[in-house]
Amino acid sequence: MSTMENLIGLVNRIQRACTVLGDYGGEGASALPTLWESLPTVAVVGGQSSGKSSVLESIVGRDFLPRGSGIVTRRPLVLQLHKTDDGSPDYAEFLHLPNKRFTDFARVRNEIQEETDRVTGRSKMISPVPIHLSIYSSNVVNLTLVDLPGLTKVAVEGQPESIVGDIENMVRSYVDKPNCLILAISPANQDIATSDAIKLAREVDPSGDRTFGVLTKLDLMDKGTNAIDVLDGRAYRLQHPWVGVANRSQADINKSVDMIAARRKEREYFATSPDYGHLSSRMGSEYLAKLLSKQLESAIKSRIPSILSLINKTIDELESEMNHLGRPIAVDAGAQLYTILELCRAFDRIFKEHLDGGRPGGERVYGVFDNQLPAALKKLPFDRHLSLQNVRKVVSEADGYQPHLIAPEQGYRRLIDGALGYFKGPAEASVDAVHFILKELVRKSLNETQELKRFPTLQAEVAAAANEALERFREDGRKTATRLVDMESSYLTVEFFRKLPQEVEKGGNPAAPAMDRYTEAHLRRIGSNVSAYVGMVCDTLKNSIPKAVVYCQVREAKNCLLNHFYTQVGKKEGKQLLALLDEDPALMERREGCAKRLELYKSARDEIDAVSWAR
Ligand code: GDP
Ligand code: MG
Repeated sequence: MSTMENLIGLVNRIQRACTVLGDYGGEGASALPTLWESLPTVAVVGGQSSGKSSVLESIVGRDFLPRGSGIVTRRPLVLQLHKTDDGSPDYAEFLHLPNKRFTDFARVRNEIQEETDRVTGRSKMISPVPIHLSIYSSNVVNLTLVDLPGLTKVAVEGQPESIVGDIENMVRSYVDKPNCLILAISPANQDIATSDAIKLAREVDPSGDRTFGVLTKLDLMDKGTNAIDVLDGRAYRLQHPWVGVANRSQADINKSVDMIAARRKEREYFATSPDYGHLSSRMGSEYLAKLLSKQLESAIKSRIPSILSLINKTIDELESEMNHLGRPIAVDAGAQLYTILELCRAFDRIFKEHLDGGRPGGERVYGVFDNQLPAALKKLPFDRHLSLQNVRKVVSEADGYQPHLIAPEQGYRRLIDGALGYFKGPAEASVDAVHFILKELVRKSLNETQELKRFPTLQAEVAAAANEALERFREDGRKTATRLVDMESSYLTVEFFRKLPQEVEKGGNPAAPAMDRYTEAHLRRIGSNVSAYVGMVCDTLKNSIPKAVVYCQVREAKNCLLNHFYTQVGKKEGKQLLALLDEDPALMERREGCAKRLELYKSARDEIDAVSWAR
């Protein structure tokens, strides 16, 4: 295969890949870069019934395009011609029906019709999504052509008013591209000044560099007139010489004159024409096909450096986006487990930084011990509990019918017990306050673990596992802190009471009547003794509650927040692991799109490199 055939084959392959990726010209420009637009193509433009489909068919040498009056072509048809040299029979293949070879070209026509309807419905609507058709034949030249809906002036029955503009916009979206060669079809039996094709071509290609004028229906001109003025470029000058063709008439089609016969007839027509005989070497569909192939080849050749640089630039962009989006998930369970653990560790690291400093939040735990707890302790209602009345009530009730003799042992115990009970509140409040701080830090850390954002399911599971663990730590913290309080109640510091000054030694009368035991001074003394003892316990708890909280909650959170989760994950099978790595669908789609495109661009680059070497 020659280098040039390689080039067109290369562009054909890239174009097909572009369509598979939804990367084609036209509307709905995706945010992703399109390679399509940089690829040279030939687009056929002209008014309705100007002979576009006929020209395409004669270039191919096959009947395969839907025909009929009105708007028949309603989606772009990307027609890729592949020259074969193995002598096998001609066949066609659609991109949307891979591996299905059509050898009956009437079936190709049906498929084009049906595939058009599949996207546009049976209505007369149009769609910019191209149909890709490849034709393999020994009678074609390598060429890519795009058949487009015919330009119209008015909407007909059943068409929306917007159709005139819609068609023009779609056609424009193809011919606007500087890489598009324009095959401008004008019928010879109409004044060239009224040609829609020439009007549009002049607008988008003022220099005429990429416009190829084709004059159809030469055979239908009024007797005594000819198109020499146009074909010689006098009526309307184009950069490239005009090409005249004589396609099959409607009558020929009705009579099923085959293409081989039609080509022969066309050759004879020019060879024997008194008007065009001198031009016959550059007339006819066969000449047109070769001319276009040559033009397309040189267009591709001149575009290769810029296509390559676009490809390289895009590969860089896509790779950096892929890095940002994260690599695709590994397929084997071991690697998946590793990924999950890595993600958990990343979260854990951030969480620790919050506790240890480096990231904010940990200092709020100290705030609980330094402010909240002391303030809560200070607010405990000991004044009320140790009021004269209450002391009297508790002590006398404890004494029962027999007033105490020296010191109200039972009364003391009850007063102290009652007072110590109040410590449970602040103890539990500290546990809870630290719990909520830790929970908040978990939430923050999850948010700050960028890698984890890709996997909403795993993120949720880690959140649940961390919160569950914190809940367990809180339970333990609560138990331990209340236990500290209970311990204070269970055994009083004997020392303290032994050191208390004895009332009797202060000249009290040991033989005094029982009622005297309840004097105000006596009760006040009891109250202040209890208060002093409770104060001592309070100082102890102020120190020991934080120790319990840190021991049970903070330290555990730091060391084994996700331990339980790790054990569970370790037991999971491949499928469950993959479910954990379930990604945000939008993100997954984006990455998939990027990855496919990256593959496309890389293989395009390889192919171009290969062609360059062969040159
Ligand atoms: P399109 O709408 O531009 O695709 O036009 P078609 O290719 O469907 O052609 C419209 C009609 O013009 C058909 O009946 C063709 O047979 C007829 N036609 C096209 N080109 C020629 C030509 O060169 N000579 C003759 N006699 N008829 C032609
Ligand atoms: Mg047509």
